[in-house]
Amino acid sequence: MRRFTAKLYSAIAQAVDFKSVACAFSLSVGLTCSQPSCGSYLLIQSLVAAANALLAFSRRTITQYPKQIGAALAVLLLSAGGAALAVATLAPDASELPVHQITESVTTAAVNAPADLDLQTFKLYRSEVTRSSDTAGTLLARLGVNDAAAAAFLRNDPVARLLVGRSGRSVTVETGSDNSLQKLSARWTTENDGNFRRLVIEKTAQGFQSRTETAPLAASNRLASGVIESSLFAATDEAKIPDNVATQLAEIFSSNIDFHRALRKGDRFSVVYETLEGDGEPLRAGRVLSAEFVNGGKSFQAMWFQEPLAGAATTVAQASGKGGYYTLDGQSLRRAFLASPMEFSRVTSGFKMRMHPILQTMRAHQGVDYGAPKGTPVRSVGDGTVEFAGVQNGYGNVIILKHRNNHSTVYAHLSRISVRRGQSVSQGQNIGAVGATGWATGPHLHFEFRVNGAQRDPLVIARQSESVPVSNAARPVFSKLAAENRAALAAAALVQQSSAQ
Ligand SMILES: [Zn+2]
Repeated sequence: MRRFTAKLYSAIAQAVDFKSVACAFSLSVGLTCSQPSCGSYLLIQSLVAAANALLAFSRRTITQYPKQIGAALAVLLLSAGGAALAVATLAPDASELPVHQITESVTTAAVNAPADLDLQTFKLYRSEVTRSSDTAGTLLARLGVNDAAAAAFLRNDPVARLLVGRSGRSVTVETGSDNSLQKLSARWTTENDGNFRRLVIEKTAQGFQSRTETAPLAASNRLASGVIESSLFAATDEAKIPDNVATQLAEIFSSNIDFHRALRKGDRFSVVYETLEGDGEPLRAGRVLSAEFVNGGKSFQAMWFQEPLAGAATTVAQASGKGGYYTLDGQSLRRAFLASPMEFSRVTSGFKMRMHPILQTMRAHQGVDYGAPKGTPVRSVGDGTVEFAGVQNGYGNVIILKHRNNHSTVYAHLSRISVRRGQSVSQGQNIGAVGATGWATGPHLHFEFRVNGAQRDPLVIARQSESVPVSNAARPVFSKLAAENRAALAAAALVQQSSAQ
């Protein structure tokens, strides 16, 4: 299954040529007239031929994986339909259109098209994301719909209010060749309950009708990869990877790689993650299943693994069947101490590490400064108890936590303290917020790690803390999964290489 996905991606990469055919199509329509001409008909035929070529390429697997083949054909047809609409609406180039927002009826059209392609009733598909500033008119205009009756319906229908004026909901329309609305559909998730909402507005003999439905999300796996040019988020944006997945990557490898301070240009990553889809459209990113990160030429790999629930469970983790990340040779990546007191995020990654202009003149700077906006959550790096929570001269609002084996951590310049002296805290718990109290020229977190009272590098401590291997009982299952993940990561790396060519 995963191997097939890799093949499919390379097939899509080969479809780049077909995209240029689609561009030629839009140009020809734009320069001649809106009626179908011989020229554009030939170009449509080329597209159909392209689709057939891909069909031939994947004929061996189509019986096993009809859904995936449908998706590949849909990519080709989207290029064609999208380009045609681009002429009508002066929208972005067809090559920039997302490839995932395609309904299944496109696929059917592709397969049937060679025999009887009727250009007079050619249906066009277009997707857009709603904005909070949208009115019925502006939304339909961006979707390339020119239909006064549809606009009136959207303005007055109570169900349509779930769409107009809401932001971030992806909408797909199906229009006739005269840009009249035939069908509009939208999908989104509201709660984390495994379901999505579907809104449908359809033209019927009695006029437009609307309905909403609830349907279960389907999980599927996505492969992606990228190269760091400026920042992790710039690279994940480029690879169309959701922020949630980027943050997971930084957390998974946090004890190996300092994402705040040590990312290098040319560092690269591959990732396999779950995506939750409604009608084949990705609506929410799920868990990272496996990942590789190459930092400064050194490669780190990780995979998600859940110890099977067994009667012979010997540890609490096993008994609860709690999952976690492991290296591919079976060492847990969970550590007694997190490497960073702040989650790596788009907010914290935008700030450079700050120097300490005031303290530096008074004594050698000790500890690590994390630049971040005021209010950014600060977390405990390990289990422990609160030894001090209050104000100290240069530190301003400060929390000192006591951990096992004479380890302690210090969190200074806080704008808010959320814990009390004597309280016990667990690893990752939110204890306060970044501020600029005490001797601080701007908002940042001053963090110290002390062992027997002496300053230590937090990252070194995080790496040193022991890790737990997979149990012997779970080894066979783990090894099989690790082999699959190695193959999936290799395929993910190819996705990037082929799209970079
Ligand atoms: Zn400092």
